Amino acid sequence: MVKAEGVRKSFGAVEVLKGIDLEVAPREVFCVIGPSGSGKSTFLRCINHLEKINAGRLYVDGQLVGYRQQGNRLHELKDREVAEQRRDIGMVFQRFNLFPHMTALENVMEAPVQVKGETKSVARERAVRLLDRVGLADKAAGYPSQLSGGQQQRVAIARALAMEPKLMLFDEPTSALDPELVGDVLDVMRSLAEDGMTMIVVTHEMGFAREVGDSLVFMDDGVVVESGDPRQVLTRPRHERTKSFLSKVL
Ligand code: ADP
Ligand code: MG
Repeated sequence: MVKAEGVRKSFGAVEVLKGIDLEVAPREVFCVIGPSGSGKSTFLRCINHLEKINAGRLYVDGQLVGYRQQGNRLHELKDREVAEQRRDIGMVFQRFNLFPHMTALENVMEAPVQVKGETKSVARERAVRLLDRVGLADKAAGYPSQLSGGQQQRVAIARALAMEPKLMLFDEPTSALDPELVGDVLDVMRSLAEDGMTMIVVTHEMGFAREVGDSLVFMDDGVVVESGDPRQVLTRPRHERTKSFLSKVL
């Protein structure tokens, strides 16, 4: 579903991704851990067209992200084609970024209506179903300011799912939450995983990575230091940098 080959990304003179190689299989829950500043968010943002890579190749579902290949040449995709690629990818951020002037239901309906031109009745029906799925059927008419952080994050997940993505990216989705609200969000992610959604999850929740993750990579300073089965990486890390990181967070 996702393949990175030698992906590099710089901001000015600072290289943030220094050659990322990895593969995410369909239906896989792929967890990413690593210290702050190691490039985790930047990597997710490259997958979702929020940043352009400087070198290497990045594929989602067999398609080059942002480019079309003709022979040996790469052509940048037009805005419309980029928008088409982005539709298939859902992203959930640390900060929920809901539209504050819209109810939970309206937040979930918005993209299918605006981006896909779906009728409101079809979008509403799906939104009701998705809010139920994230345990918020009774909050459909609530505004973000009336919801807890955990509830807002679950609305944000429902909103991403409304576009029926084939890939979901989670960037520290529980890091901004009070501890008692984390579990409900992780439960929603776990049920998504059980339904076979392909997910890349940047997280500090090692319990989630161990129990739900199919693969885990440890990133540090713009490279993948170590990858493998989450239980193996978390309990028997091979590299000193992984050991040192885990000793601080576990
Ligand atoms: P992580 O998510 O692992 O904490 P990030 O991908 O957010 O790491 O950031 C990696 C590095 O890239 C950091 O040093 C950060 O300051 C830098 N960086 C991220 N985005 C930008 C940007 N838009 N412009 C300049 N530097 C950036
Ligand atoms: Mg980050």
